[in-house]
Amino acid sequence: MSRPDPQPTAVRPQVDWLDLLPAPVVLVVRERLRYVNAAAVALLHAPSAAALLGRQVQEFLHPLDSHRILARIQRAQSGAGENPPTSMRLFDCRGTERTLVITSKPLVVDGEPGVLAAFVDMTERAAMEQRLRRTDEDFRRIMDTMQDVFYRTDAQGITRYVCPAVKNVLGYSAEEIIGLPAAAFYPDPAERDALVAAIRAHGFVRDFPGRMRRKDGAIIDISISTQALRDERGEYAGVEGIWRDITERKAMERELERLASHDHLTGLLGRRRILEILDQELELRRDRRGYVPLSILLLDLDHFKQVNDTFGHAGGDQVLRQFVATVHDSRRGEDQFGRLGGEEFLLMLRGADAGGARQLAERIRRAVQDSSYSIDAQSGVRVTVSIGCAHACAEDRRSGDLLERADRALYEAKRLGRNRVSP
Ligand code: GH3
Ligand code: MG
Ligand code: MG
Repeated sequence: MSRPDPQPTAVRPQVDWLDLLPAPVVLVVRERLRYVNAAAVALLHAPSAAALLGRQVQEFLHPLDSHRILARIQRAQSGAGENPPTSMRLFDCRGTERTLVITSKPLVVDGEPGVLAAFVDMTERAAMEQRLRRTDEDFRRIMDTMQDVFYRTDAQGITRYVCPAVKNVLGYSAEEIIGLPAAAFYPDPAERDALVAAIRAHGFVRDFPGRMRRKDGAIIDISISTQALRDERGEYAGVEGIWRDITERKAMERELERLASHDHLTGLLGRRRILEILDQELELRRDRRGYVPLSILLLDLDHFKQVNDTFGHAGGDQVLRQFVATVHDSRRGEDQFGRLGGEEFLLMLRGADAGGARQLAERIRRAVQDSSYSIDAQSGVRVTVSIGCAHACAEDRRSGDLLERADRALYEAKRLGRNRVSP
């Protein structure tokens, strides 16, 4: 058993000890420095204590704080009681501004009232706080003005921050969203899982496609750029990033794609698309090697310039649309029908041999001849069509090979007097 320590006896502090204290301490009497400890000499960047003694406190005080601090000193000296701790700014001997927190106590020295004060240097911390405040203000300003949506979630996928722009895009205010799982705003939560998996695998994603559900129920297309957040131990702590509503861009892309593949006037496949389909079909035939008949019909309206000349271009357009309807009615459902340009059209007949193709062409020719179209209020407009037929052979590599023969046949039909099928 160890014996208990003997009761320590109290010792009287010596003023020298204050020099060992890391906290700056000063004694002020009649608003002048009467004592400064070593830490205070260092704080004020003075060459020695002697260089400070006897100097007026006011010399060091920041002009905006000096009034307040001198009033405190006077209050303490007059016996009005203790001053609460406060912060103040002063200039050290090099003229550098320092921010201090000061605690003080009245003290009578040689019969004269004085103040004993200790300081904590807050200069670094004050500067840091100001930097933080500025960063914070910058962040808030950016967030308040940005159009895209900045957001942050924790490791559990709960939204911890989202900027105000979300109101315009999703219809929910930021307050309605914060605290809820981000997945709640995805029409399909699996899409959010895919996003998080990609972020966890690569650390970030750029322009990741996604969809979200607006407050009014509408689904919007979004593009997400996001990175993983890590805690101090490097563990996954959530995600932070930006997403943008690209619904309009997507709609425009779809419309461009549709315009590129579909003819605006007739709604038929456009030139590029119908030739693409024909190329694919030829390729397929080559791969299969077997005999799968394939024919095409090239249709061109006769003397169409006259229709335009008589009824104007808009009138010609109306005839073109009605002509297309006639062909639609005559063709077989599975035949691909496209507009090559102007009043020239292509029908691709899968499985049709030369005879079958000619029969269909003849049926179309007659249907057009027998049709009566109307332009605005005027009915009884009649047109005819010439048709060139071509049948695919084993040597045909590209749509151009087949088209060339159909074009020659069409030319022949025109030469022989129009309103006919060739060969
Ligand atoms: P041909 O019997 O030799 O075919 O005589 P054509 O007058 O039909 O001559 P061609 O096929 O060479 O000319 C087609 C005309 O069709 C020329 C052009 O003004 C007109 N055209 C081309 N595209 C359009 C269109 O989109 N709308 C209208 N209304 N007319 C068009
Ligand atoms: Mg023509
Ligand atoms: Mg033509």
